[in-house]
Amino acid sequence: MEFKNLKRQYEKLKPEMDKAIQESCEKADFIHGSEVMKIEEELADYVKVKHCITCANGTDALQLALMCWGISRGDAVFVPDFTFFSTGEAPAVLGATPIFVDVDTRTFNMSLEALRKAIETVIADDVLIPKAIIAVDLFGQPADYPGIRAIADEYDLQLLEDGAQGFGGCIDSQKVCSFGDISTTSFFPAKPLGCYGDGGALFTDNDEWAETIRSLCVHGKGKDKYDNIRLGMNSRLDNLQAAILRVKLKAFIGSELLQVSEIAQKYNMELSKQVKTPFVKELYKSSWAQYTIQLENSSIREKVISVLRGYNIPTAVYYAKPLHRQQAFKNCNYIHINNKLSVENADRLCETVLSVPIFPYMSKEEQNMVIEKINEGISKCEY
Ligand SMILES: *Cc1c(COP(=O)(O)O)cnc(C)c1O
Repeated sequence: MEFKNLKRQYEKLKPEMDKAIQESCEKADFIHGSEVMKIEEELADYVKVKHCITCANGTDALQLALMCWGISRGDAVFVPDFTFFSTGEAPAVLGATPIFVDVDTRTFNMSLEALRKAIETVIADDVLIPKAIIAVDLFGQPADYPGIRAIADEYDLQLLEDGAQGFGGCIDSQKVCSFGDISTTSFFPAKPLGCYGDGGALFTDNDEWAETIRSLCVHGKGKDKYDNIRLGMNSRLDNLQAAILRVKLKAFIGSELLQVSEIAQKYNMELSKQVKTPFVKELYKSSWAQYTIQLENSSIREKVISVLRGYNIPTAVYYAKPLHRQQAFKNCNYIHINNKLSVENADRLCETVLSVPIFPYMSKEEQNMVIEKINEGISKCEY
């Protein structure tokens, strides 16, 4: 069994996909081609945001947003402690200080109380200037945007939505990638909406920022890329990837989101007696980038992993290490601030979470097998 069976997805989409790839090669407009413009329009329409700007990957997208706001040395950026490395890497690479905020034990997303405490601690310390919050839609579920937005407004902070895992999710009828002042996503192949390589995008309603981001993506271009008015990056989505994404977006909206949510519902029903299943808040919809259960402790987790491995069922621990424990952050980390902030929930989740196979084209037989073997693994621990 595979963790995400992308080959099976390709088999389903093959006729349309091969045609799109071939046409794109024949046209040979590889950079800034017509497919890039079309996918940007389609993504903006889907998310209901005015501007979509594609770029090379989800990490660049975060960095571009922070560059657009001029975030740099001396600035504090609040990020959840339990997330993929990029969320903290983007501010740190620009010289800003990521402040690691604990998460809610049920949703795995940034905790409002911990966020408020982190902001107050930075203000009281009076060295760094609080500038922005990066909220992450972890494993597919949107962060608590009503709550986070209120805090961002209260302290006059920019809100950046890291929707790399959340694309396709929503709160009520409002879609992921529309909650931030700028929002970003990733088209890494294993994300809810992936391409056949690296890709990413930014979303914003702000005309001026959209123009700045377009410039930053192409070496800080002015009237063209040989007229450089600021320092930028070279971060673009290939036309070929855009063509691939257009086929994938149609399948994603047309059927995959629903398929994956049905698989999640079945897991919920059949696993919730044995393990802690994911909690999704009322009115929130997850795009199920991961289906992540919690075990009692790390030794039970090891046992379950090894039972599943015995049947060739892959699992993954997202994440084994919270950001505050990553060596890479040792130097940009204001230890005296981060030491005042408890991140015990993130620490505990790293010991207990386990992500199991989920993807739109998973068969009933495959899913039944995963369920059966998880239950078998748990029962082996009960002696
Ligand atoms: C994958 C991911 C990213 C980075 O995306 P890339 O396209 O791999 O650079 C950023 N944030 C989160 C939460 C992610 O899961």
